[in-house]
Amino acid sequence: MMLKPDTLTIHVARSIESETRVANIPVFRASTVLFDSLEEAAQRAQAVARGDKGASTYATASTPTTAALMDALEHIEGAGHATRACLAPSGLSAIATLLMALLKPGDDLMVIDSVYGPTRNFCQSVLAQWGVSTRFYSPDASAEALEAMLLPNTRLIYLESPASYTFEIQDVPAIAAMAKGRGVLTVIDNAWASPIMANPFDWGVDASVLPLTKYWSGHSDVLMGATVVREALWPALWKTQRDFGICVGGDDAYLVLRGLRTAAVRMRSHEQSALRVAQWLEQRQGIARVIHPALASHPQHGLFRRDFKGASGLFGFVLDPAYWGLAETANGPEDPQAARLLAALCEGRRHFGMGYSWGGFESLIMPGRLSALRSAKPWQEGPLLRVHIGLEDPQDLIDDLEAGFQAMAKLI
Ligand SMILES: *Cc1c(COP(=O)(O)O)cnc(C)c1O
Repeated sequence: MMLKPDTLTIHVARSIESETRVANIPVFRASTVLFDSLEEAAQRAQAVARGDKGASTYATASTPTTAALMDALEHIEGAGHATRACLAPSGLSAIATLLMALLKPGDDLMVIDSVYGPTRNFCQSVLAQWGVSTRFYSPDASAEALEAMLLPNTRLIYLESPASYTFEIQDVPAIAAMAKGRGVLTVIDNAWASPIMANPFDWGVDASVLPLTKYWSGHSDVLMGATVVREALWPALWKTQRDFGICVGGDDAYLVLRGLRTAAVRMRSHEQSALRVAQWLEQRQGIARVIHPALASHPQHGLFRRDFKGASGLFGFVLDPAYWGLAETANGPEDPQAARLLAALCEGRRHFGMGYSWGGFESLIMPGRLSALRSAKPWQEGPLLRVHIGLEDPQDLIDDLEAGFQAMAKLI
C-alpha cells in the first residue's frame, strides 16, 4: 500500500549500511571514489553508464547522500509510478537539463505563457540558438485548443499549474491524455504544489521538475532542483546530465533531506495561513481580485478541487486601479504612479520581506513585472502583487498588509 505523504517524508531515504545507526543519512563530501580493483572500476563504470541506482565512479554520479535524495524523489514525486530522478544545482538548471535532454534541433516546443520567467528566457535564448522553436500558449487553453496548435514537429508541451504570478490551473489530465495520443511529451513544473499537494504523474505527465529550493528545503538557505521522469525517458536524461556534468554537493543534499522531514506539516501551515490572508484581502476595499486557486472565486477552482490535495502559501492579488486613483492602463510598476503606491505597500513592512524565491519559513511580497513575461495573453488588469505566506501568525501578517494599505492611502 502507498504510504501517505506525511509518512513517506519521514520514512524514505533513511537506510544506510553503517555500524553507527544514526537517524539521518550522513553528509558525504566527495569527488574521488576509490576502487578495490581495476575490474571493479570497469564494472562500476558500466553501472554508472546504465544509470544503475547508487552506482558511482566519481561523485558527479552520486554519493550515498545524493543517492538518498534521488530515492526520496522517486518515492514522493513519483508517487507509486515507475520514475527516476536527477538532481541539479538549481530549479532552473533542472529545467534546462531536462529540455536539452528531450529536445533536438528542428523540434517545436509549446510552453504556457505564464511560465516561470527564467524558463521563458531559456527557451528564447539557448533553445532558439540551438534550433528549437518555442510557441507560447494562452494559460487557459483547453486540451482541444492545444491539440489544434500542434505542428508535425511538436515534440513537447510544457505545463505549469498553477502558473507563475497569475496562478492559472490547467486541465493537466486532459492535456496529458491528448498529448499522449499524438505522440507528444508533457513536462510540468510542480513548484507551487510540490508532491505534498499534487501528484502530476497521476495526471499522466511524462516528467516533472521541482525546485527543491522552495518547499522541500523550506529554509531559504539552499539552492537545488530535481527532474523526475518516467523510466522510458531516463536514458536520455541521465546521458545529458552526465554530458553536462550536472551534480550537487553532499552538504546541500543533506539540507534538502532535512527540510523534507517537516515539509508536510509546513505545507499545511502555509496553506491555512495563506487562505486566511487571501480571504481577508478578498473583502478589503481597493483589491480588484485575489488570485488563489483554493478560493471559490478562482476561474479554475473546479479543476483545483478535482486535481489537488491542497494549496501552498503563494498567491497573488490585483489592485483596483480606480480605487487607488491610477490610470486604467497602470498594470505594473512600469507606471510611475503605480510604482509609488507599490513602494509604499511593499517597503517598510515588518513581516514581509521583498525578494525573489519563496517556499521558505518567511513571508515575502513582490510586485509582478508582467509586461515582458507575457506574449500569448498580455496582462491587462491592474498592478499585481505576489505574496508568499510564511509560518508567522497570520493575524500579524494581515496587520502588516493593512499598514501597507494605509501608507498607500496617504499618497492618494
Ligand atoms: C523558483 C522557481 C523555479 C526555479 O528554482 P531555482 O531553484 O530558484 O532555480 C522554477 N520554477 C518555478 C515555478 C519557480 O517558482
